Amino acid sequence: MKKIIVQKFGGTSVADTERIKSVAKIVTNEKENGNDVVVVVSAMGHTTDHLVRMAQTLNPNPSEREMDMLLSTGECVSMALLTMAIQALGYEAVSFNAAQVGIFTENVHTKARIIDIKTDKLRKNLNEGKIIVVAGFQGITSDGEITTLGRGGSDTSAVALAAALNAERCDIYTDVEGVYTTDPRVVPNASKLDEISYEEMLELAHAGANVLHPRSVETAKQYEVPLRVRSSFKTDNLGTLILGVDKMEINKPVAGVAEDSSQIRIVVCDIPDTPGEAATLFGSLAKKNVSVDMIIQSYARKSSNTNDIAFTINKADLPQAQEVLNEVKDKLNAGDIKIDDNIAKVSIIGAGMIDRPGIASTMFQTLAESGINIRMISTSEIKISCLINKEDAQKAVKALHEVFALGSDEVADVKGTLPDV
Ligand code: ASP
Ligand code: MG
Repeated sequence: MKKIIVQKFGGTSVADTERIKSVAKIVTNEKENGNDVVVVVSAMGHTTDHLVRMAQTLNPNPSEREMDMLLSTGECVSMALLTMAIQALGYEAVSFNAAQVGIFTENVHTKARIIDIKTDKLRKNLNEGKIIVVAGFQGITSDGEITTLGRGGSDTSAVALAAALNAERCDIYTDVEGVYTTDPRVVPNASKLDEISYEEMLELAHAGANVLHPRSVETAKQYEVPLRVRSSFKTDNLGTLILGVDKMEINKPVAGVAEDSSQIRIVVCDIPDTPGEAATLFGSLAKKNVSVDMIIQSYARKSSNTNDIAFTINKADLPQAQEVLNEVKDKLNAGDIKIDDNIAKVSIIGAGMIDRPGIASTMFQTLAESGINIRMISTSEIKISCLINKEDAQKAVKALHEVFALGSDEVADVKGTLPDV
């Protein structure tokens, strides 16, 4: 049986008919390699943004069902045009929307999750030698309603299709050459990673590097689909391969540095030091769908028998969080509530930091030497994040990138002197 390669092309890769012609070449080259090819496309250029703006001029609060009806059209345009371009090169090709394939999602509009993908039609057409082009970002419910997967969701469509078809690989073609050690706009000598693990990529994605839709990486990890991120503009560059940590050769303790300025910090002061207070606060936030990232509870003050709880949330969730805080403030008997949006989170990420002492202390020392004050710290097995003042963010990223030698091939010296985390 032939190997199946799933290729996904983002908006900039299919922005106009010239770009679509070059994508058709990339697709048919893969077919010439002797593989079966399933292509997933995003809407052309900024089509989706444009559709959103049009909707908003007609109705500030459009129904989610109609938004899905509207936004799902963008991908239908690019799938048909790309199929025509492939056919013009003398290949057999056919396009399908999500309903035709059977990409079933839950019954939720604008951010549905994929539940099941039917593969019979795809396999039949592949067996007939055809190249298949599928509309990304969209799905269908069991009662025939059109849904979408959330902005950037075509990546997830592609990975889910690759998993369902047991594909050899999923290639995500985009406008960058791969995954970088940090944002090359901030650190010009940032280097492209040849390999990175799913776990690291997920942490990078959540820490503010928006190369891939995080859910696509989760799906790839779950079904062990090897993912390649590469440029549709520079095809001689193989990009970055994302795979299981067990299949990688780790040579650097830190793979990347990320920065996220989309959070705000909330401090609830003088909460009585009794059981159940944190549960009330975070339980109420969870009920309003506000996800919390970093949390610090201070040591209880003996004199007043109270402590402070500081936490960070996404800026967009502030209105809901404020509602919750107004509700629970009296219940908690809390004092002042302080909200601070002058913050940034910088994170270092690396599967190689497991069992490697000194990484955390090197990070803290580097920030200290740059005169940067750390306001909160959180850690996971493969990530250390520090909350700092927003104006220090770029300086912090540059200093950390430098100290962990991410711009070159040498392994960083991480012998710290402070206790390890
Ligand atoms: N066209 C959709 C968006 O702009 C989906 C995607 O591009 O992945 O969000
Ligand atoms: Mg995208």
